[in-house]
Amino acid sequence: MTTTPDGPAAARRLLIVGPPGAGKGTQAARISSALSIPAISTGDIFRANVSGETELGVLAKSYIDKGEYVPDEVTNDMVRSRLAEDDAQAGFLLDGYPRTLAQVDALDAMLDEAGSALDAVLMLEVDYDAVVERLIARGAEQGRSDDTEETIRKRIEVYREQTTPLVEVYEKRGLLRRVDGMRSIDDVTTALLQVLGA
Ligand code: AMP
Repeated sequence: MTTTPDGPAAARRLLIVGPPGAGKGTQAARISSALSIPAISTGDIFRANVSGETELGVLAKSYIDKGEYVPDEVTNDMVRSRLAEDDAQAGFLLDGYPRTLAQVDALDAMLDEAGSALDAVLMLEVDYDAVVERLIARGAEQGRSDDTEETIRKRIEVYREQTTPLVEVYEKRGLLRRVDGMRSIDDVTTALLQVLGA
């Protein structure tokens, strides 16, 4: 880790992982502003494309509404172009990507090409029953089309099957930083910044 006169610099190429409803989006926005790095949410980019009725949006919608993952190739290409933008050169916080082992490989290759690598992976640990309740409440408040009880259960099942294996990969690399996501929003932010040395 590089150091500055004020002490160790905070890690800047980051991921945040956790099941749907863990609070990734909320925390990503806070970490992004604290560290002045862009929060890049694949879910948000897909939703913007769905609203804009782009070709990508039409394709993504068919998967999102079923609670399934958009195919890796489509998602990887979208992230590759986003990470190539100027604002992501000094760091970024990816939210909701990678979500499959194939996406981990794709991200490794993208960063490798750019001569960089991940600094840390933040994991929000939450209770699965509690997140179902949170998502049902969010669906009622925000009207997200995939926050219906059936789709929520499907998304959690897909997360457990396809995304939990990533935890082991990043743990073996020594990058995983686990944080209790059941505490208050402020406490979780404090804990995340602390594990980042920020
Ligand atoms: P999120 O907002 O992160 O919960 O994502 C909402 C939906 O977008 C997911 O249920 C997937 O259908 C799709 N999505 C978001 N990120 C990815 C990804 N990395 N890979 C595949 N599909 C994704």
